[in-house]
Amino acid sequence: MAQANYTSELARSLAPGLLDRFQRYVRIDTQSARDRTSSPSTPGQLELGRLLVEELLGAGLTDAAIDENGYVTATLAGSEGAEHVIGLIAHMDTSPDAPGAGVQPIVHRDYDGGMLELPRQGTRLDPETMPELLSKRGHDIVTSSGDTLLGADDKAGVAEIVTAVAYLAAHPELPRPTLRVAFTPDEEIGEGATLFDIERFGAPYAYTLDGSEIGELQDETFSADELTATIRGVDVHPGQATGKLVNALRIAARILAALPADTLTPETTSGREGFIHPYSLTGTAGAAQIRAIVRDFDDDRLREHVALFESTVREIVAQEPRARVDIEVRHQYRNMLSYISAVPHIVEAAASAFRAEGIEPVRTAIRGGTDGSRLSEMGLPTPNIFTGGHEYHSVREWASVHDMASASATIVRLAEVWTLIPPAPGEVVSAG
Ligand SMILES: [Zn+2]
Repeated sequence: MAQANYTSELARSLAPGLLDRFQRYVRIDTQSARDRTSSPSTPGQLELGRLLVEELLGAGLTDAAIDENGYVTATLAGSEGAEHVIGLIAHMDTSPDAPGAGVQPIVHRDYDGGMLELPRQGTRLDPETMPELLSKRGHDIVTSSGDTLLGADDKAGVAEIVTAVAYLAAHPELPRPTLRVAFTPDEEIGEGATLFDIERFGAPYAYTLDGSEIGELQDETFSADELTATIRGVDVHPGQATGKLVNALRIAARILAALPADTLTPETTSGREGFIHPYSLTGTAGAAQIRAIVRDFDDDRLREHVALFESTVREIVAQEPRARVDIEVRHQYRNMLSYISAVPHIVEAAASAFRAEGIEPVRTAIRGGTDGSRLSEMGLPTPNIFTGGHEYHSVREWASVHDMASASATIVRLAEVWTLIPPAPGEVVSAG
């Protein structure tokens, strides 16, 4: 099997440094933790943040810094007379849904299209069930050792941005707008945008590198709410409970059983269909709590799913007059499309950069959210670009070095594309 071609000589030249960085970053445990009391939720994210500051300073981005909430920012000055300020964003944390400590990356050179057997836990990557893996014959593939996630989500994005800005910093003759870099904490627990200071960031548009398959260019995400139902029963010593005990756990179980199971679930929907997904049940006989996420691409349908959850809960609880329930609906993020479609040239600029790198852009809708979902809603339109990573949030997570290099090269192309776009009236103009 001959090594596959890179999408360009630029991508080939970026690949070794990019792989070094990626392997360095994934070894740091940056798993975030739900229900945080401070930002970032875990100290490993600060450790990676400080390393990134050092590396950005080393690359010549002299204002690189980490703030008190764990956000890393840095600036690469634009070419003489640059008129735009463009943001590049990736997240430093990894998912709490799979083991994230002690990641030992393994590079499988010149992948032959067969089964990848990882040394720990019998984890296998079967190309029969992973058509995207099968399409990477001849690529260099990175996996974990089988008992942890890899962390390509989103350290692939982080490494691609650092590699691209370091390359641009080393080649001052290449045209570029002013580039503002941000690495965020706690994206996986929905907090990546919470303490993001858009004004201080100073870019009117940005891109996240937090997608997957090469070519993905995404300007549409789910709209998302989180629901918490807290059920209170009557707890009595079981020996004296006759006619008195009201078991909150049993009520919670009846609620779960009454929610739709053949439809409106993550496992029975795809494409543009939404769902109600209970993901946590905790409690005692006295009090129980159900937590669920609700997703749809359409805000009206999202409201209908929330209403269905609420009416189901209230109906079941009403069958026991001594039980009480509180339902809390938390707004998470909204489909970014309405914000991004108002400024179509930012997605068009990315599409031009893809084509300059020899990649046909594929516009897809993300069945999930990104930092860009909330940033777009907060006033910073931020579509999403592929990273080359796959099977996120699992011990089977993998990434193609070839595709990661393509993503990094695409950022270099994107910088040039932006120097050809006239500034919009009223757009913030770079201070250089
Ligand atoms: Zn991500």
